[in-house]
Amino acid sequence: MRWILVAALVACSSAEPERAGEVAPATSVPPQAPDALEIRRKALSAELRELVGELELAGRYDCCIETPCKLCAVRAGGCRCGEAARDGEPVCEECAMMWSKGLGDEPVPASSIRSFLEAERQQNGDICGKPPVTAE
Ligand SMILES: [Zn+2]
Ligand SMILES: [Zn+2]
Repeated sequence: MRWILVAALVACSSAEPERAGEVAPATSVPPQAPDALEIRRKALSAELRELVGELELAGRYDCCIETPCKLCAVRAGGCRCGEAARDGEPVCEECAMMWSKGLGDEPVPASSIRSFLEAERQQNGDICGKPPVTAE
């Protein structure tokens, strides 16, 4: 038993003699990868939250939900979902989703809120569930 193990170890280490020094660090990386990604996600999220706060102070962020959306900061560097909600115009997808969860913050009924995507579909006819139009 003991001799077989030793023989196996010797066989292993002699199989890749030139890479022996690099193997150890490489195998220790994968378990840490998810944590590193999560740290980056949190940092990015915090930075976005900070950007939204500064855009609000600059008068460029009039959002319509309890905690202002982040989507408009990334997409447009400003938000006018609040004004849109009050005027019956479409709001961004993030805001529309939050309204559907009861987190809207404008004096209008939640049923009056729709996203740009919903508005576009209504305008072009609701094609959901219908076969695609083919040119013939
Ligand atoms: Zn909004
Ligand atoms: Zn938005």
